[in-house]
Amino acid sequence: MSNETEVIIVGAGPVGLMLAAELRLAGVSTVVLERADAPGVHPRALGLHARTLEQLAMRGLQEPFLSAGVRVPSWHFGFLRERLDLTRLDSPYPFMLAFPQNRTEAILEQRALELGAQVLRGVQVTGLTQDEDGVRISVGGGPDRRAAWVVGADGAGSTVRRSAGIDFPGTDADTYAYLGDVRADAPPAPGWGVQNEKGALIVAPVPGGLLRFTGYDPEDQGSGRRELTLDELREITGRIGGADFGLRDPAWLSRFGNATRVAAQYRKGRVLLAGDAAHMHFPAGGVGLNLGLQDAMNLGWKLADVIRGRSGDDLLDTYHDERRPWAEDVAEHTLA
Ligand SMILES: Cc1cc2nc3c(=O)[nH]c(=O)nc-3n(C[C@H](O)[C@H](O)[C@H](O)COP(=O)(O)OP(=O)(O)OC[C@H]3O[C@@H](n4cnc5c(N)ncnc54)[C@H](O)[C@@H]3O)c2cc1C
Repeated sequence: MSNETEVIIVGAGPVGLMLAAELRLAGVSTVVLERADAPGVHPRALGLHARTLEQLAMRGLQEPFLSAGVRVPSWHFGFLRERLDLTRLDSPYPFMLAFPQNRTEAILEQRALELGAQVLRGVQVTGLTQDEDGVRISVGGGPDRRAAWVVGADGAGSTVRRSAGIDFPGTDADTYAYLGDVRADAPPAPGWGVQNEKGALIVAPVPGGLLRFTGYDPEDQGSGRRELTLDELREITGRIGGADFGLRDPAWLSRFGNATRVAAQYRKGRVLLAGDAAHMHFPAGGVGLNLGLQDAMNLGWKLADVIRGRSGDDLLDTYHDERRPWAEDVAEHTLA
């Protein structure tokens, strides 16, 4: 079986789509395989930070984000009362931009397609094997596929990582946070929050009129990943925040934990990892998507250079050397 394309990216999340566009900019033939039939509808990640916006601007991509996002001038660290003053950042974007992940994905997918990437949905990758010339990928219910290089951007449960035999050491979840994207009849100011002996609550704007109420509730730790109800959210925010915000019409209710792991290797032969496939951690602070998009920026030009024969494949080891320490830092910060 010969290679059908130069790169297969597994996963059409934000990181896979960003990487696909980067590779296409360098003319690398790129196919993205995504198991979901349709793009996600939940906002998920909200926060885009200064360095990510700078990198999007390097590609002339900042406008749709800046024009529709909400600028948040200060943000929390570890839900602590003292805020980080982002206006002091030495950046053209001294703020956190609240912008829903599903809209980020839509922008990045459109760009990847315009640049000539193929995005194939409804294709679940089940395993892979590699040899000297390429990587063979098995696909549930379809023929095998083959590429010279494969990038696993398939999220925290990465099949690519597991199939390549890359360890994912770390710790399981022992702390959970709650999250509700809702409308509120008596909302506090966006960015408002409390941290007291009852727990933590922070409110972030979701473009489109929703507000995200999220935080830590010491009385809610036994519930793990169980579904959150609107009544539970009202009770939690009332108890911790001390007010009835008139919460209604939830668009998304969730609990999430602090399982924390970083891949032992970002590269094994012709297989590379990026985004949540390479690192998972507590989403508090809103950094995971940013970390992953910056992985894609680091990896894209290097992989293209190796494929075009402009650099030896040891250039790809610098991707591991440069990006993995940042994931370790983020893991340490979110655990703190
Ligand atoms: C509640 C919450 C809030 C968050 N808030 C923020 C925030 O404010 N800022 C921030 O930076 N980050 C935040 N994050 C983290 C952020 O959502 C993730 O870091 C981000 O989604 C990672 O992108 P990714 O492309 O690496 O992986 P994913 O978004 O997980 O995408 C992986 C893709 O791969 C596909 N896939 C998986 N397995 C296969 C397979 N076998 N075959 C084919 N396709 C497959 C999946 O369907 C998916 O589309 C938050 C996360 C949560 C849960």
